[in-house]
Amino acid sequence: MIPLCIPKMSGNEWKYVKECFDTNWVSSVGKYVDMFEEKFAQYVEAKNAVVTMNGTSALELALRTLGIGEGDEVIVSSMTFISPVNTIKYVGAEPVFVDVCRDTWVMDVDKIEEMITSKTKVILPVHIYGHPVDMDKVMTIAKKHNLYVIEDATEALGSEYRSKKVGMVGDIGCFSFNGNKIITTGAGGMLVTNNEEWGKRAKYLSTQTKTVLENGAFYHEEVGYNFRMPNVLAAMGVAQLENIEEYVEAKREHGKLYNELLKNAKGIKTSAEKEYAKNCFWLYSILVEDDYCVSRDKVIEKLKENGIQSRPFFQPVHLMPPYKKCRHGDMTVTEEISAKGINLPSSVDLSGDEIELICSLIRR
Ligand SMILES: *Cc1c(COP(=O)(O)O)cnc(C)c1O
Repeated sequence: MIPLCIPKMSGNEWKYVKECFDTNWVSSVGKYVDMFEEKFAQYVEAKNAVVTMNGTSALELALRTLGIGEGDEVIVSSMTFISPVNTIKYVGAEPVFVDVCRDTWVMDVDKIEEMITSKTKVILPVHIYGHPVDMDKVMTIAKKHNLYVIEDATEALGSEYRSKKVGMVGDIGCFSFNGNKIITTGAGGMLVTNNEEWGKRAKYLSTQTKTVLENGAFYHEEVGYNFRMPNVLAAMGVAQLENIEEYVEAKREHGKLYNELLKNAKGIKTSAEKEYAKNCFWLYSILVEDDYCVSRDKVIEKLKENGIQSRPFFQPVHLMPPYKKCRHGDMTVTEEISAKGINLPSSVDLSGDEIELICSLIRR
């Protein structure tokens, strides 16, 4: 079986994790928590990084840090894993959906402005499957209407927008270290920002707004949250980060090979990499167009029969029961693409032979 996307742990993961066990520093404070934040900040070139228990909590923390809540609206694409949309609900705000681009499958920035009202507070671009949103336009619109920008970069660690790491273009960026992501800590997340005040506030909110008094007692000025990552998982993260360049390079090589081998396949549309983008190809993906010989679901079934795991695209969030009544623009492209898309195997350790096998099956 060729799996969709599995972790690679061939570095110092076990050594660092074992050290946590050996020294008894397994829980929510410890040197690896601090080290993971520092080294991650260095990698994406952020001034502040706050580690969290998963990507979803990083996104919720970003919204809470900026004070988003009841009565506010957040603009997001519907073609996404549901997590960022759920976090908008957690804080009491309302998601407003915009369509995506036909070639990159990420937020169509030309459709944002028509959805803005006096309630809009945030634009939340999701860099789906590794391809960056066209951020210059997002930032221009945000500036004009005085909005915050929170980047969901959970699927795009290592991707770049005009030579800047994705997640560092907007006000706050969020990452995930779930098992299928670019690097993993089993479960984990990170919030990054260049704004020191927000960095401090995010750390404060994520650690139960705890202030330690002179006598050692705890004092809490407002409602806080426990979004902390334990040291034992941060140890994994530090080890994974040591190999990040190799992982991103491997995934980009896979993306290029897939694109090369499928570019002339009838009825297949390959992945994009716009001139402004460096795509980490988190999950290499294709569209199965109407002139392909069989349906999208049949392709998934046939691949499975041949021992190859694949997955249909995210289904539009604006069609899910909790979000059916939310405001949205025209969703033609979102609905079309989610019915045509397939994610193909994309593990770091995938071999060229395996990619050739997958592509030859699809071409047949
Ligand atoms: C994985 C993912 C998340 C959240 O990650 P978790 O760590 O699983 O909470 C958020 N947004 C998108 C687009 C994702 O793919």
